[in-house]
Amino acid sequence: MAKGRFATAINCMDGRVQTPVYEYLKNKYKVDYVDMITEPGPNKILAENSDQVIIASIKRRVEISIHQHGSRSIAIVGHYDCAGNPNSKEVQLEHIKAVKKLIRSWGFQGELQGLWVDENWQVNEV
Ligand SMILES: [Zn+2]
Repeated sequence: MAKGRFATAINCMDGRVQTPVYEYLKNKYKVDYVDMITEPGPNKILAENSDQVIIASIKRRVEISIHQHGSRSIAIVGHYDCAGNPNSKEVQLEHIKAVKKLIRSWGFQGELQGLWVDENWQVNEV
């Protein structure tokens, strides 16, 4: 097991949301590190559950974070002005709900937190 405490984020690749999500999760869970699993609009990719190659890659990285780093919490992130998921906030929040169900179906029993990063790049729990 790696040294230190870890949390996990399934985040967009967008450079604008890396630091806000990292800092938010470090503070919320009192962890030393946040494993950042990034794709463009990952909430859309996972909610649609169609691209099985990318989903398998995300799942593999989540499993490394949980089993090798001992993470007990996964955050699923959506954000304002997302190029990968250009849907409204309302639709993106529905995607986040669907992703929570999908991750539970993988057998993850720790904490699942939805996050919305708004137009001021502030992180909100959803
Ligand atoms: Zn994005």
